[in-house]
Amino acid sequence: MRIDILTLFPDMCDTVMSESIIGRARKNGKVQINCIDIRNYTQDKHRRVDDKPYGGGMGMVMAAQPIYDCFQSLCGELGCRPHLIYLTPQGRTLTQERIKQLSKLDNIALLCGHYEGIDERVIEALEPEEISVGDYVLTGGELPALIVADAVSRMLPGVLSDDECFQEESHYNSLLEYPQYTHPAEWQGRQVPEILLSGNHAKVDKWRREQSLKRTASRRPDLLERAELSDEDKDFLSQLEKD
Ligand code: SAM
Repeated sequence: MRIDILTLFPDMCDTVMSESIIGRARKNGKVQINCIDIRNYTQDKHRRVDDKPYGGGMGMVMAAQPIYDCFQSLCGELGCRPHLIYLTPQGRTLTQERIKQLSKLDNIALLCGHYEGIDERVIEALEPEEISVGDYVLTGGELPALIVADAVSRMLPGVLSDDECFQEESHYNSLLEYPQYTHPAEWQGRQVPEILLSGNHAKVDKWRREQSLKRTASRRPDLLERAELSDEDKDFLSQLEKD
């Protein structure tokens, strides 16, 4: 998969995407991530990319032309139109389910707004999918774009090693993950649950499943409506309600 991030701050995005698991995946060619500077496409002689809002008011608005030309240039380079996403607090809230679907595409372009946002006419012209990372406002779309790029990349084949697999993680199956522990077995008088030291994989799996169900029921009961539950899971949950 190739992910292009259209931004006024390409270095910020490139730095984050060069570290840790995603940095390794980029080096190994498991995912291609390019950070494109929208400013390179401005026709303004002073290289400006923003201006005051019509109608007055606070702040600056990113102009339509550099964004439009930047995206058209990308389409030309790719020889196809990538799936375009505009990161905005006005979009649909991002979910693991949407990330799963996006990870099946060959090309994604992530458009980052800044200042007061971008000229509405370029949104009308390009018709991007609009995604929000939550009901709060950030200074720019870079952090949200990095969230999408990270979450999508880690689902691609070969990005996570076998011992970093995502199938049991929170939200993947609409359940929260069970609690995790590492060495030492006792820390500040707190013990790792006995069962995890037993070496009995079947019992460990059962315990983890039950912890996962218990956590989800107490912290995010809304998720259980979407989770695929076995009869055994349902029995466990109804017993939990009685206790
Ligand atoms: N004036 C805009 C509004 O009220 O909807 C907010 C603009 S925000 C200060 C600047 C940019 O940050 C946005 O264009 C968007 O790209 C990004 N942004 C801020 N919060 C976001 C969120 N929760 N999810 C996704 N993008 C966000």
